[in-house]
Amino acid sequence: MDGNERAAFAVTVLSLFPEMFPGPLGCSLAGKALADGAWSLETVDIRLFARDKHRTVDDAPFGGGAGMVMRPDVVDAAIEASRPADQGADQGEDKPLIYLTPRGRVLDQGRARELARGRGVTVLCGRFEGVDQRVLDRRRVEEVSIGDFVLSGGEPAAIVLIDAVVRLLPGVVGSARSLEEESFERGLLEYPHYTRPRVWEGEEVPEELVSGHHARVRAWRLERAEAATRDRRPDLWARYRAGIVKKEGLDDEHH
Ligand code: SAM
Repeated sequence: MDGNERAAFAVTVLSLFPEMFPGPLGCSLAGKALADGAWSLETVDIRLFARDKHRTVDDAPFGGGAGMVMRPDVVDAAIEASRPADQGADQGEDKPLIYLTPRGRVLDQGRARELARGRGVTVLCGRFEGVDQRVLDRRRVEEVSIGDFVLSGGEPAAIVLIDAVVRLLPGVVGSARSLEEESFERGLLEYPHYTRPRVWEGEEVPEELVSGHHARVRAWRLERAEAATRDRRPDLWARYRAGIVKKEGLDDEHH
């Protein structure tokens, strides 16, 4: 490989249902990038690391309660088997080990971007009530959630995380500009989109967009992006406003 060439972004998925992969990641942009070698996918079947003849991977929770918990010895053996030979026990920062869990820090575009700059990611998918905490602590696993709701397993969450990262790899999305303008890139939701026909069911496309005047289009889009963010995401809006105030050295009262 010469200095300009980038090794394929290496994704490893540890799961009790490896047959769920690549699933949707084998289609469209991510699927094409996988076929083209921009990223690689390896799955590890956690059940293969069970130690008894029944291939048991879970057990009842200490302290009682409903459901079952994935055993630390089984999960740890699967992690060990997936660990690149040149990395320490915590897998290293350029190929972090992530456990998908509603208890994790919520995934955002900034973290997806950081991950895309690395050389890959190992993703651990939970089932049942989740994974014994000791293995997460021992392996210094990063806990990531995809939102404040509960899925039945980590696999759909892993697909979401991998898709968000893979589309940021160089060359996967045709135009770098379409990434730059997307929601969250400037701390705002994106502006609304319109295409042909220019009049549909009596509804016209906003006049600014067909004006042919680039500055007007830009101003309209910024205004709509700001309005959507203010109305729908007060959390993002507050951060965006704070950023403007800081950047421009303005007193918030006057902005
Ligand atoms: N008992 C867990 C709790 O209340 O936090 C939920 C376990 S859930 C039924 C089973 C698995 O689905 C989890 O171990 C995790 O891997 C995955 N999962 C569920 N919701 C998720 C979310 N919002 N983000 C990421 N992973 C999720």
